[in-house]
Amino acid sequence: MSAGFPDFRLGNVLATSFTATLTERRGDAVERIPTPQRLVDWLTVNGLAVESCTPAQLELARELREAIHAAATATAVHDALPASAVDVINDRSAQGRAAAILTAEGNRRWRLSSPSRVEDALGVIAADAISILAGERDGRLALCASPTCRAAFFDTSRSRTRRWCDMNTCGNRQKKARFYANQRRNPGTAR
Ligand SMILES: [Zn+2]
Repeated sequence: MSAGFPDFRLGNVLATSFTATLTERRGDAVERIPTPQRLVDWLTVNGLAVESCTPAQLELARELREAIHAAATATAVHDALPASAVDVINDRSAQGRAAAILTAEGNRRWRLSSPSRVEDALGVIAADAISILAGERDGRLALCASPTCRAAFFDTSRSRTRRWCDMNTCGNRQKKARFYANQRRNPGTAR
């Protein structure tokens, strides 16, 4: 939590971590990048530090976020990709300048152009989304089972049966709801 802003949901898949900056999309939506500075913070946490961010660049980021969400949702339910979402993802991918760098420890990190711009970071995120949407990576796009969430997430579990975008939030809430529903049905039952 930073200065009263909603904290970030961090995952290990860049593109869907990015779409998770807006949560509870079907309920009381929570905007986790409400200001340009919060986008800068999010990018920094995700290894894509940029010099600055304007309100217009924040809008660009949100437009990409919603395009990835729309395309990932369509893929998860085996619908055709929305053309407008494909255009936005491709534009952002084409306009970013970033290089993949191999570290001495054998890890991959991104080096953005200098000075590093939001557009460069968005290019990396768009490319990550493309690799998932194109089915290049080992995993499956799915929608969170929570009715107020329905976030698209990338299931890399071996069985491909993950139901929630996030075990600590949606998964936990669902478990609690089931527990209380059971208690109502069976009052007085010790569990
Ligand atoms: Zn969820």
